[in-house]
Amino acid sequence: MTSTDSPADSTRTTLTRIAGELRSRLDEQLSDAAALRRRIHSDPRISGMEYDTRDILVSELAGILQFDEVASAGAIGRIGPDGPAVGIRAELDALPVHESTGVEFAASNGAMHACGHDVHQAALVALIRAAAQVDLPVAIGAVLQPREETYPSGALDIVEEKALEKINVTHMIAAHVHPGVPAGTIAVGAGYINAAADEINIVLRGRGGHGAYPHTAADPVTAIAQLAIGLPEAVRRTVDPMSPALLSVGTLRAGDSAANVLPSEAYLRATMRTTSNEQRIDLFEAVRQMAEGTAAAYGLSADISRDSGEPVLTNHKELAEGAEAWLGAMGHDIAEPMRSLGADDFSYFCSVMPSLMTFVGVEVEGCSPAPSLHDPRFLPTERAIKDVAHAMLAGYLAGAERILNEQVDEEINR
Ligand SMILES: [Zn+2]
Repeated sequence: MTSTDSPADSTRTTLTRIAGELRSRLDEQLSDAAALRRRIHSDPRISGMEYDTRDILVSELAGILQFDEVASAGAIGRIGPDGPAVGIRAELDALPVHESTGVEFAASNGAMHACGHDVHQAALVALIRAAAQVDLPVAIGAVLQPREETYPSGALDIVEEKALEKINVTHMIAAHVHPGVPAGTIAVGAGYINAAADEINIVLRGRGGHGAYPHTAADPVTAIAQLAIGLPEAVRRTVDPMSPALLSVGTLRAGDSAANVLPSEAYLRATMRTTSNEQRIDLFEAVRQMAEGTAAAYGLSADISRDSGEPVLTNHKELAEGAEAWLGAMGHDIAEPMRSLGADDFSYFCSVMPSLMTFVGVEVEGCSPAPSLHDPRFLPTERAIKDVAHAMLAGYLAGAERILNEQVDEEINR
């Protein structure tokens, strides 16, 4: 460090050197990573059954990383010096989808890596193998997470088991392939990226009766229909239109099969998507009021409950800015932020520590436009492995930079 260098400059210089080394070592791993990806792809495991997939990855990293079991079918381990680590997640699960890509390594067991998790796994293995060959300034935590696609969430289990604390992970990084991002670019972006997802259940109860004598009954059919149409209005009356939120009714049930029997109960289930904790509380309260008010107007009672799903997925500002700069330095083009009201359980990590999830644009061979995630034809080209690994690397560097700068600050204030 020269006398004109600030501590932050010197951190940047160190990391720039490490970034270069990691990148060249990583590129040497790519052909092995492609073979690993094909192997994982050909023999997928659905959520909760990822043991074999995990064991393959653990054995690929044997001698480099000591793994501990986590969240039943997952594993977690760290590589690098003592002190705080930057965790990188790869999801392990495939989907119950019958693959229709026709490639020679296509799965034939009724499951498919149609969400690109095979690519994420191969990229993480390549990055860890590269990391084993350099003098890392900050440790990397490898987080092999089961059950991203279903409940109970594997990420929530990892948080609740305090597995990240055990290996001193203080920042979490993930990268996800996405056909909606232009191929060859990577979407970073600070702030909300995915929504909080809650399920709302409403039961209206009254008195059944004969369809020809409705004045003697208090049936919930009209009221539940009114609620299904009226609920989205709760969004308009509660949430600033510049801030995304929505309610979608997915299930509506009343009566059995008779035309002339008025039922006594009716059910509605809706998904509620919000992009801040405040919205989440306010919107559910508005739904409750609307359901109770509608029920009262029709002489019914209402039972309203909420099953809480993932919290809002929020990208940490400094990590996002840092990763963007590192990706730029690696020659990657940055796409517009990829925000949606979808949900990903990576948000559980975001809710306990500074975290970053990026989306990597991909192409699907023989399909233009590329099919969506979860489509039986969704098979990103091999280039995706490299781009995902680079996105993970950029996230690691951004986290490492924060950790190193914090350590310098502590040193100065001592
Ligand atoms: Zn996914």
